[in-house]
Amino acid sequence: MSGAAWEALAAGLAGDDPVRIVGSGTKVAWCGAVAGREVRVGLSGIVEFEPDDQYVEAWAGTPLSELQAECAAKGLALPLPDRGRWGEALSGYPGTVGGLVAMNLPHALAEQCGGPRDWILRVEILTAEGRLVRAGCKAVKNVAGYDVPKLMVGSRGALGVLLKVGFRLWPTRAMPEPDASVVSDRPANWVQRTLRTDFDRACEAAAGRLVATDRASSTLWACLEFGESLPRFPGDWVLSPRHQEPPEDPVANAVRRLKRAADPTGRLNPGVFGWI
Ligand SMILES: Cc1cc2nc3c(=O)[nH]c(=O)nc-3n(C[C@H](O)[C@H](O)[C@H](O)COP(=O)(O)OP(=O)(O)OC[C@H]3O[C@@H](n4cnc5c(N)ncnc54)[C@H](O)[C@@H]3O)c2cc1C
Repeated sequence: MSGAAWEALAAGLAGDDPVRIVGSGTKVAWCGAVAGREVRVGLSGIVEFEPDDQYVEAWAGTPLSELQAECAAKGLALPLPDRGRWGEALSGYPGTVGGLVAMNLPHALAEQCGGPRDWILRVEILTAEGRLVRAGCKAVKNVAGYDVPKLMVGSRGALGVLLKVGFRLWPTRAMPEPDASVVSDRPANWVQRTLRTDFDRACEAAAGRLVATDRASSTLWACLEFGESLPRFPGDWVLSPRHQEPPEDPVANAVRRLKRAADPTGRLNPGVFGWI
């Protein structure tokens, strides 16, 4: 990471006006309309790589492809679907380390290997008020008090700016085969997870619009035309650039309280969830 990248980020975040945090921009369309000045994270590079401990720590703007390539040289990886096999339909390459954590989207190995919530160990964050927060450590069972690293998973840049992230890695030889099946190589713009009992009906309803299905996690990915949506089922959830719905209370209330505590003036990514 160069000093210039750090200075550019610090200058971008200075002030108290609303800012829009961007990693590489692949998933910005999946979020609500965000007001504010664009600030690119831009900090890139591996900070620490300890293959014997299966641990890697990188600046949040590091391209995931770069992190994976570096780790693969030592037989390690974040257990994400392989591009050679899965193409771009599900993953929206290239993406950054910070974007992966901040979005926490479903992926095709999630049932077998978990997601960023299971891999993240350590974070360094800059708050809206310019405070540097370090949390977590390299050991997996380490948490006393609030688990700040996990709090950042799925936070969409609304609670703080991820500067560095440390992950537990998987040995590539232990990576399972995905259960999911890819139906088309079109980019997905609709992710739906249903109860197991509704999964077949949801897939039937998606029919020719299916991109991939994962029975293990009852998840389907589809590619819809503008203005289209798929039938919904009780208790399911949907993630889509065209679909922003609040979770039910008390979850929504807890998220709003968290947002007020972490970002009292609401300057980080205002509108990113569409309902906060
Ligand atoms: C091999 C591989 C497989 C992958 N598989 C999948 C998959 O199956 N499914 C999937 O969904 N993704 C997958 N990804 C990850 C995906 O491509 C992107 O990395 C990620 O979803 C978005 O990254 P981005 O930098 O483009 O985020 P952006 O589009 O720039 O940002 C998305 C959101 O995150 C916030 N954000 C970005 N950076 C930060 C930061 N540093 N601090 C705080 N907030 C931030 C933004 O404000 C915004 O709200 C895969 C990546 C690889 C390399």
